[in-house]
Amino acid sequence: MKERVILHCDLNNFYASVEQVENPNLNAKYLAVAGNTDQRHGIILAKNTLAKMMGVKTGEPIWQAKQKCPELVCVLPHYELYVQYSNAVKDIYKQYTDKIESFGMDECWLDVTDCQIFGNGEQIANKLRKEVFDKLGLTISVGVSFCKVFAKLGSDMKKPDATTVISKENFKRKVWPLPIEEMLYVGKQTKTKLNKLGIFTLQQLALADCQLLQRQLGVNGKKLWQCANGLDDTPVSDVNDAGEIKSVSHGTTTVKDMTSYAEADRTIEYLSELVATRLRRYGMEGSVVHLTIRRNDLSHQSHQQVVPRTFVANEILKCAKKLLRQIWNPCTQLPLRSLTVAVAQLEKVSDAVQCSIFDQDHEKKQRLEFAIDQIRKRYGFESILLADCVDQDLLIKSTAEEDMLPFKRK
Ligand SMILES: [Mg+2]
Repeated sequence: MKERVILHCDLNNFYASVEQVENPNLNAKYLAVAGNTDQRHGIILAKNTLAKMMGVKTGEPIWQAKQKCPELVCVLPHYELYVQYSNAVKDIYKQYTDKIESFGMDECWLDVTDCQIFGNGEQIANKLRKEVFDKLGLTISVGVSFCKVFAKLGSDMKKPDATTVISKENFKRKVWPLPIEEMLYVGKQTKTKLNKLGIFTLQQLALADCQLLQRQLGVNGKKLWQCANGLDDTPVSDVNDAGEIKSVSHGTTTVKDMTSYAEADRTIEYLSELVATRLRRYGMEGSVVHLTIRRNDLSHQSHQQVVPRTFVANEILKCAKKLLRQIWNPCTQLPLRSLTVAVAQLEKVSDAVQCSIFDQDHEKKQRLEFAIDQIRKRYGFESILLADCVDQDLLIKSTAEEDMLPFKRK
């Protein structure tokens, strides 16, 4: 088989960079995008390089960030803008190849194996960097390699606005010294398991006994070993593949552990609101609601249920609350540390389908939720929340994810 040429393009400090392009006054400032800027308890969602240098971290509350960086300027997120820019960047990529796979809003893999007409991988990467900057004012870091996993590692190596080539000749020198958690697919749990086996670097992973890994970590063990050895042959999926986003989820860890249904329900309501808002933003609806709980001993459990297609917060939270009661009992089980609500099996909202499937009640709720979105667009997310929905002090860290289910792709 011909050696593949794969690029991983990563927009640098995406949210903050878009804010700076839209408002050049922010350029020389320590900048963060944060939810709920008028309250100290808003959470940092993104930051620019200057703020990063001061130690500002994504996920921390504004008050904490300001202790490190008193001059920090916080602006509210403008998700609609980020979607627009993300699409505009993809339009540039599409001029080179239609084999594009998004990974979140700011990252894409491009398979340019059959695009020699534009040059070799490195040349294409440099052209893309120039074009994205000239047309949109944004910078990207690009990794060029023969597999997806190494291309992604490459885009992390030099930032901002840089190209890094990981070849069959240099990967042992460039990639192997890295800690395993830098590699795609190595999450916290996998890292812990590998560390217990004495595996800390990608070199150690690559040289480990594949069968031992398979015994300890199942199918994933073999997959990880292959990845570390440059044998990852996962294809870059076609841009025309339906449904790029597989699920939309929001999770949060609370300051105090949740010890009652009332406390957990409040968090679920807040998370359902966030999930529903994002579904509507993408014009998607889903038919599976998924709840994950993590107890304070870090044990976790998930449960899911099929529902009529929806993007309505009320319907999502009703289902999530029911799921909670199926897997957790505050009287007999440990308190909860975190909750995640997700909606999966997503499809584009189509008017025709909507009319036939949804009852009137549902339509009314939909109209209400669109109205809520309009108000929030003007006054910010926190301007309307379901009654008794959220206690800001309850939330320390929210994570938003478009879950791409890397191993489960067809
Ligand atoms: Mg990025």
